[in-house]
Amino acid sequence: DAQTKSVVISICQQLKGNPESVMSLDLIIGYVQSVVEETNVNGKGFCLVLDRDGTVIAHRERDKNGSNILSAPDGEELMRHLEMAGDDSYFEMDYEGRRSTVFVSRVMNQWYTLIVISNRELFSNVYTTVGFNIATFLIVFVLISFFYSLAYRNEERSRNEAEALRIREQQQSYEAEILRLERITADAANQAKSSFLADMSHEIRTPINAVLGMNEMILRESDSERVTTYARNLESAGKNLLSIINDILDFSKIEAGKMEIIEAPYQLSSVLNDVSNMIAFRARAKDLTFAVVVDEAIPDSLYGDEVRVRQIITNLLTNAVKYTMEGSVTMAVHMERVQQDQINLIVDVRDTGIGIKEEDRKNLFTKFGRVDLEKTNTIEGTGLGLAITENLLLMMQGDIRVESVYGEGSVFTVCIPQGIANEEPIGDFHKRFQEGLKTLRGYRESFRAPNARVLVVDDTELNLVVIEGLLKTTEVKLDFADSGQEALQKTKDTPYDLILLDQRMPLMNGSQTLQHIRAQENGCNHETPVICLTADAVQGARERYLMEGFSDYLSKPVEGSALEASLMKYLPMEK
Ligand code: ADP
Repeated sequence: DAQTKSVVISICQQLKGNPESVMSLDLIIGYVQSVVEETNVNGKGFCLVLDRDGTVIAHRERDKNGSNILSAPDGEELMRHLEMAGDDSYFEMDYEGRRSTVFVSRVMNQWYTLIVISNRELFSNVYTTVGFNIATFLIVFVLISFFYSLAYRNEERSRNEAEALRIREQQQSYEAEILRLERITADAANQAKSSFLADMSHEIRTPINAVLGMNEMILRESDSERVTTYARNLESAGKNLLSIINDILDFSKIEAGKMEIIEAPYQLSSVLNDVSNMIAFRARAKDLTFAVVVDEAIPDSLYGDEVRVRQIITNLLTNAVKYTMEGSVTMAVHMERVQQDQINLIVDVRDTGIGIKEEDRKNLFTKFGRVDLEKTNTIEGTGLGLAITENLLLMMQGDIRVESVYGEGSVFTVCIPQGIANEEPIGDFHKRFQEGLKTLRGYRESFRAPNARVLVVDDTELNLVVIEGLLKTTEVKLDFADSGQEALQKTKDTPYDLILLDQRMPLMNGSQTLQHIRAQENGCNHETPVICLTADAVQGARERYLMEGFSDYLSKPVEGSALEASLMKYLPMEK
């Protein structure tokens, strides 16, 4: 009808913008239908056109066209909303079972064009977008935070590590610097200590040399028993002092790492004989029995450091005598064969002395370690002997053991690895020792050489007197010089059989004097053996003097027997 037609035209105007078109109603309805079917919002929802009374004009499901929406389940509610809705507005309602938003546009107050979109569809984009965004954001956020924290932590950790490394390096360089400075200081201190000790040992040995030398002459010449007793006491005190100095010197050498084991062939019988003689003498003075038992099969010629073997055995024997008030001291020597040319020399020193408490044993070998002071206080000692002994044994790959019953006595056992220089066994040492003991009593010169001529050079006059006294009975002709210069005057014109030359002298020392004697123009002593007299008993002294051209050296204080032995060795046989 006309009304419908005008409505259709207005729809056409709105939809197509072409008012001039005149079409049949069917065409228009068909056209509206096609528009309705195609209309959606980005593929969401659907479109329908209703008449004001609810008649369906166009629906995407064509069979519903012409029906009334009021007969549909949600029709009544829809119509109510439509009546209330304004032009171009929207509302929400449940449509066909789903919560939906209905966009409505009135056409000429006659038709409603509706677009129905379920809320799920309508917001799906938003949901997914927002959801996706949130999820993405969250993931990205989490990832970012994760990576950030990782990176930050890594960076922080590597920063911390770098810092720790820097501090450690700095600390190490400080420590190295401190060590270096400490070493320099210690080296300097050690150097100072060594030269102080060498000086002191020289300074102390020189007067002791004189004291003991003079004393020796008193012992040889005095007929008075009382004077001889005094002289014996003086001798014992002097030797004691000397051994203390030697111990201090030895220990400082060990501490400075300058102690060396110098190996050479030696006679074991000679070592055992010397130490046994010395100890027998001391034991007798204390009314102690002294016994020596030596395995006859031990090879007599051994290879090792004789001086240090002697020192180790002497230390144990002196202690045994020192710390025993009554009873006996026994030395037993045997061996274990280790290899064809190697033995372990085993020396047991057993005493019936004060003994050592179990708890004190660990302190025996510490330096200056003296134990059981209420008993040992009055006995002379420095507490260095066993520390030195243990260190020497350590250097020789040997060891030391102690067994003791407090109040009953002790057994010190040392094991000293030694080489064999010759298989010849030592034999009946006991017999030899007993025979030796008989000759121990008085002094008798070992030779007489009235035709021999010896020059003695020493700046300390007392030393010249000592040597003169010591050699008196040998009848050797002695000349004296108290300086290098004076010695050179004498060597120029007089041929000597032997020269005894002190090392430490002012202006020209022994070594320099020796060089001059050897180079002296028209000199008479280019070949004469020269023995160095020295109190400088520090490490390597002997090697140094031999290298400088001396024939031998004698350590001060010079002992009568050692001096005679040297003369015997170097004076011409025929004299
Ligand atoms: P010291 O010069 O005091 O004798 P050592 O190092 O030789 O020094 O000995 C350390 C300590 O061990 C001694 O002071 C003494 O207490 C104890 N000692 C050593 N030998 C014996 C022994 N044969 N009997 C008892 N005690 C001993």
